[in-house]
Amino acid sequence: IGNVNLYKTSGHFEKYGADSFQPISTPQEGEQFMLKPMNCPFHVMLYKSRPRSYKELPIRWAECGTVYRYEKSGELSGLTRVRGFTQDDAHIICSRDQVKEELKRVARFIKFIFSSFGFNDYKVYLSLRDPKNKEKYSGNDEGWQFTEAVLEEVAKEEKLDYVKEVGEAAFYGPKLDYKIKDILGREWQCSTLQFDFNLPARFDLQFTNDQGKDEQPYMLHRALFGSFERFIGLLIENYAGAFPLWLSPVQIKILTVGATHTDFAKKLQSEFLAEGIRTELDDLDETVGNKIRKASHEKI
Ligand code: ZN
Repeated sequence: IGNVNLYKTSGHFEKYGADSFQPISTPQEGEQFMLKPMNCPFHVMLYKSRPRSYKELPIRWAECGTVYRYEKSGELSGLTRVRGFTQDDAHIICSRDQVKEELKRVARFIKFIFSSFGFNDYKVYLSLRDPKNKEKYSGNDEGWQFTEAVLEEVAKEEKLDYVKEVGEAAFYGPKLDYKIKDILGREWQCSTLQFDFNLPARFDLQFTNDQGKDEQPYMLHRALFGSFERFIGLLIENYAGAFPLWLSPVQIKILTVGATHTDFAKKLQSEFLAEGIRTELDDLDETVGNKIRKASHEKI
C-alpha cells in the first residue's frame, strides 16, 4: 500500500484514481492509503532520501513490484488481464546529456529479451502527446518537444520499425510501447520505455551538477516483461505449451521399460537433477508406448 498523497503529487491519482482501488483511511489521523497502482513514487522517495550529486548519475533502480488496478469483473481474463500483477519495473534517473544513451540501452535490452523468447512478431509504437488536447498532459511545450524529438531519434538510430501514435503518450511524457501479437492476432502491450520530465518536477528532484548548482534530472520508466502474469500467459499461447528446452517446466522424462530398470532410472534422474536439469521419472507398471504417449501429450 502507499500513501495517497504520493499519487496525488505524482498526478496518478487524478488521472487513474477511478481505475485503482478506493483509498482507506486510518481511524485516528485520517491518513489515506491505497493499494499501490504504480511503483514510481517509491523510487522517487528513495532518490529524495538524501542529496544527490552528478557523480552518482545515472541511477538505475529495478524491482519486481506488485501493483493493483481495478478491472471490472467482466474484463478479467486468464493471466492477461488481472487485478494484481507484478511488473519488472525500473526507473533510471539521469542528467540531460545522459538521457539518449540510457534510452538506447533500454531499447537494446528490450530487443534482447524479445529475441531470447523467440518473439519476432511485435510492433513498436511511438506514443506522442496530442497537441490539440494539451490539458490532458503535464508540462510545457519545450519539455514535450525535447523529449519527443529525442525519443524519435533513439527509435530511428536503434532501427526500430515503429508507428507513431498521437494522443497515446503518458501524461508525463512520450513513450515507446512494444506490443506482441497472440495466436488470435490480438495485440498485447508488454515492454514500455517512457521518457518523463514531469515527475522530477512534481516531486522537485534535484542533483548538484559539476558547477555546484541544483539541476533537475530526467526520469525513464521501463518494464521489459511488463507484467510477468501477462508475459507468461502470452508465452504459454505462443509456444502452445511446447516450451523451448531451457524454459520447459519438465526438461527430461525418464521412462522405464521394465521393473528391473527402476533403480538405474532413479540414479540417472538424481544425476540430471544434480546438474540442475528438471527431470521426472515414470516407472509405473504400464506399456512403454503408453508412457511415451503421456509424455508427448505433456509436450516434454
Ligand atoms: Zn514508473
